[in-house]
Amino acid sequence: MFGVTTPTSKRRPQRTCIACRRTDDKRAFVRLVCTESGEVEVDNSGKKPGRGAYLCPSKECWEMALKKNRLEYALRTQLGVENRRTLSEYSHTQLQKG
Ligand SMILES: [Zn+2]
Repeated sequence: MFGVTTPTSKRRPQRTCIACRRTDDKRAFVRLVCTESGEVEVDNSGKKPGRGAYLCPSKECWEMALKKNRLEYALRTQLGVENRRTLSEYSHTQLQKG
C-alpha cells in the first residue's frame, strides 16, 4: 500500500516508474507534472507544482506511457495532440534507448 513507511529506514525517497513499475531513487527518474493549465510538462527541477508522475529516462518507458495512456491515467488528465507530440519529441531527442 501507498503511505506505508518503515520507521528505521533512512533511505532516500523512492519513486516508481509508471510504465515498467521499477522503483528507484527519485533522482533516477524524469518527473512529469500536470500543470494548472492541464498541460503535461517535463519537470527537470523536480519542484514544479502540480500532480507528478515518474518515468525512467528510457524511450521504451516513454513509449509505453504515451501509447498505453499510462501517463494520462497517472496524471488524471487527457493529453492533447500537441502535448503528446512534445513529450514524444522529448523522448526521442533527450533519452537513451534501452
Ligand atoms: Zn520504466
